[in-house]
Amino acid sequence: MNLVIIGASHAGISLAEHLKKNSFRGKITIIESANTIPVEKPPLSKKFLDNDFSEANIFLRKKEWFEVNEVDLLLNETALEIDKKRKDVILKSNQRIPYDYIVFATGAKPKMLPEVVLQNKNQLALRDFSDIKKIIKLIKSKKNITIIGAGYIGLELASSLRKNDFEVTIIEASDRILKRVASKELSEFFSRLHSENGVKIICNENLEKVIQKDNFFQIITTKRKFDTDLVLVGIGVKPEIDLAKKISIDCENGILVDEKYETSTKNIFAIGDCALNKTEYGVLIESIHHAQFSASRVSSYILGLQKPKYEEPWFWSDQFNIKLQSVGLYEQKSTTIYRAGKREGSHSWWSFIGDHLKCVEAVNDVQAFSIAKMIFEKKVSVSQKEIKNKELNLKELIK
Ligand SMILES: Cc1cc2nc3c(=O)[nH]c(=O)nc-3n(C[C@H](O)[C@H](O)[C@H](O)COP(=O)(O)OP(=O)(O)OC[C@H]3O[C@@H](n4cnc5c(N)ncnc54)[C@H](O)[C@@H]3O)c2cc1C
Repeated sequence: MNLVIIGASHAGISLAEHLKKNSFRGKITIIESANTIPVEKPPLSKKFLDNDFSEANIFLRKKEWFEVNEVDLLLNETALEIDKKRKDVILKSNQRIPYDYIVFATGAKPKMLPEVVLQNKNQLALRDFSDIKKIIKLIKSKKNITIIGAGYIGLELASSLRKNDFEVTIIEASDRILKRVASKELSEFFSRLHSENGVKIICNENLEKVIQKDNFFQIITTKRKFDTDLVLVGIGVKPEIDLAKKISIDCENGILVDEKYETSTKNIFAIGDCALNKTEYGVLIESIHHAQFSASRVSSYILGLQKPKYEEPWFWSDQFNIKLQSVGLYEQKSTTIYRAGKREGSHSWWSFIGDHLKCVEAVNDVQAFSIAKMIFEKKVSVSQKEIKNKELNLKELIK
């Protein structure tokens, strides 16, 4: 039995680990375009300026792990074709890897600004270790950094840079930061946090042009013109689905999968950021939790184990002295209720549609986050009225 995983990051490695832990007897080959052992992604934006930040400290698994577990990791190799007749994956080096199962764990790539705004070769976005290495090198002689896009990665970069005394400006085209993923209330909280810490956030402004000068960039938006030492682009990602499309697997803005995370082609699966599980989530989920959860579904299916039950997506972000933990998916038409946590500086926002709890965002409030996770897990019905009641001890909801 040959199982080929394309992509050695959070999803791909998690799958190999699940399979090995559960005594999978077949051969596992992981193909990875990058030429170094994969690293954890969250520290790239959160800790890249910390003294102890190094590649070796954040390896997803050490080299020995692959050897001990007899997982073949082929680095610096890209899966370019799939020969469905001969059941081979064909690599950049022309090597053919036979398969019984293929798992796409190809993730996502950063979106880039249109070439007319800034030439592609001058755009710096953050997705992997090679990107952060470039960024660390380039910021050394700089002071003033402009980040395009106020999603979580842009905000985490801003926080790390600001904590290290860089001057930071963020330009966001929407009328508020984190608009795609967070409640209005949480956006306001993070806007305030960044402003109080000296980050300049400009919303509702479209970037028209970035002109590269000798040693700096000139930024032109719909409303202003200013100079900056360096531009970082954080405008979201797009899933890596080209190879799946090439072999006629059904795709929309991700590779379509069912609840087993199997694609429209039998024995070919997709997990992590590239997989679109419309039945259960409806939208693409870009998170470590989803990478691991989807891997556990595929592993259980292949091993003939019981299907892991649905899990509500959860996510975290660290910015300045704040830890955000959120569970569920925010929907724009939600009603959001604020609760102060037990400890000073702890807050949570509970978003409902009618009496359906959709999402809980907790800031420095582990208790609210854990209880919210349990509410989703145990399918406890919770009303807006209960959450509005300041006297309510949240623990009572899950008794
Ligand atoms: C800076 C940063 C910070 C983040 N912080 C958080 C966080 O705090 N919490 C959280 O939940 N999530 C966070 N995320 C998101 C999280 O990292 C992703 O959801 C996760 O990495 C998805 O894992 P994946 O394995 O699906 O895809 P990816 O991590 O994108 O990996 C895909 C891999 O596939 C390889 N590949 C693609 N195509 C081919 C091919 N044809 N042949 C061979 N190899 C190929 C790529 O080189 C890549 O290594 C962060 C992301 C970034 C970039």
